[in-house]
Amino acid sequence: NLIPVRRALLSLSDKSGLKELCELLTKWDCELVGTSSTYNAIINLGFSCSTIDSITNFPEILGGRVKTLHPKVFGGILGRELLDSDAKDMKDHDIKPFDIVICNLYPFQKTLAKGATTTELVENIDIGGVSLLRAAAKNHASVSVLCDSADYEYFMKVVSENQGNTTLSLRKQLAVKAFRETASYDEIISATLENKFELENELSSKIGPVRTENVNSILTLPDNVTLSLTKQQSLRYGENPHQNAAFYRISDLQKENKVCSIANMKCFHGKELSYNNVLDIEHAIRLATEFKEDYAAVILKHNTPCGVGVSKDSLFQAYVKAFESDPVSPFGGIVCVTKNVTEELANKLSETFLEVVIAPNFDSKALEILQKKKNLRLVTFNPELPLANKIIFTHVQGGFLAQSSNDIVLDFNKVTFPTTVKPSPDIIKALTLGMTVVKHVRSNAIVLANEYQSLSIAGGFTNRVDAVEQCLKKIRLPLTNAILASDAFFPFPDSIELINQSGIKHIVQPGGSVQDAEVIKACDKYGISMMFTGNRHFKH
Ligand code: 5GP
Repeated sequence: NLIPVRRALLSLSDKSGLKELCELLTKWDCELVGTSSTYNAIINLGFSCSTIDSITNFPEILGGRVKTLHPKVFGGILGRELLDSDAKDMKDHDIKPFDIVICNLYPFQKTLAKGATTTELVENIDIGGVSLLRAAAKNHASVSVLCDSADYEYFMKVVSENQGNTTLSLRKQLAVKAFRETASYDEIISATLENKFELENELSSKIGPVRTENVNSILTLPDNVTLSLTKQQSLRYGENPHQNAAFYRISDLQKENKVCSIANMKCFHGKELSYNNVLDIEHAIRLATEFKEDYAAVILKHNTPCGVGVSKDSLFQAYVKAFESDPVSPFGGIVCVTKNVTEELANKLSETFLEVVIAPNFDSKALEILQKKKNLRLVTFNPELPLANKIIFTHVQGGFLAQSSNDIVLDFNKVTFPTTVKPSPDIIKALTLGMTVVKHVRSNAIVLANEYQSLSIAGGFTNRVDAVEQCLKKIRLPLTNAILASDAFFPFPDSIELINQSGIKHIVQPGGSVQDAEVIKACDKYGISMMFTGNRHFKH
């Protein structure tokens, strides 16, 4: 089970922790072999090291595209010394075994976060490094594989405790990690390239449209979808620390129904994503991307929006609008904006303790400011391609419930204005904003809004009158041009009495209650305008 550390191959894009590692390895007389810049770094640190060329007798070529891809390297990693035929092959071809592979990959994700072009991204797809990791992980019976500097400390501890040897248990743990690393690396690449190629219209022509706006086709769930589940990523814990959690990627053979992975967003700074973070981020992106306005900002807590703002002028203004409607709830919340975060906005965001900031990208000054907060998670997403879960799954005992995603807010073919007073175009904008927000709030839900922001949000009530009452209680801003949006119809006119007392003069709701006539009568009595949308937005 114990394998001495005799010979290590190092190929590192991120060279952090290299010194300590070399100190430990050389202490146990381990020979070091490095690819070009890694070799230089090791020599500069004062350790002796061989170049990869001296092993392969072949230079690195194609601008680094081919560095380690050579039988002398891969034979040394994959060879099973205890197997006679392997030992013979190695002897015949003068292949020396490697006991350790230390490799981290080209920083594809970081390059992406910088807003690189497709060509730059392609150059940042690691080929040889992924093969090194997989080869070493496959041969974990004798080879250790380190793909993350965060694991060096543990590795060094085990090697020291075992007098310069690795243990089988250590090698197995490292192998699993390496396979997980290469899987998630490839997942990010495929999702990114898919997005890029779709935007460039290079996929749609041959394979047909990927995300259609045709609601009917989405509503028909196939009877026989073949789904496969792959554990892609362990999460720190579930909804609470005593619960375990992981992200499982669902892929099915029909692209149309493909459920996108969390690879559609990229967290590149801050603490590891938690289960709640992933849920909240998904939801925040869904809500934020509903807005067609130039700038939109959404603040979320516990999967529930607590502030929404839009602006024609600036992202800063949109965020201020979102924040001012409820400045208490954003503490520990998550923010999603639909344009790149500017320096001005970053300063404003820094004033509040936030868990996550999600944006298409971050200006460099903004990054400087936000990255000072070590734990704050910074996430990028592509606003052009909102998350493509066309089927939503909920787990129940023994299986899943599946439904198509709720992809509409208002269908103006269905909208009617049953009251005597009709809303003005500006008020209709406010009604639309209110309806958009209320769609994303747990039922029974009520939202107050104006043309630019939510004014109060109340959800999770078991009767509508309580929801209205609570929503009216939470108001912090003046109710000028305010409207009230309800996720489902008013079963009785009682809520209208309450609304009238608050001074609100405009309501949007689906309609469809047997008591609609009574509700309309009550609105007419108080000169309230009402819009019926014909679409209920329950959310459980
Ligand atoms: P270095 O900076 O030391 O020259 O190269 C280190 C990087 O190269 C590592 O990130 C490693 O994953 C990657 N790498 C190692 N071998 C190859 C190869 O044959 N082809 C490519 N494209 N990358 C490689």
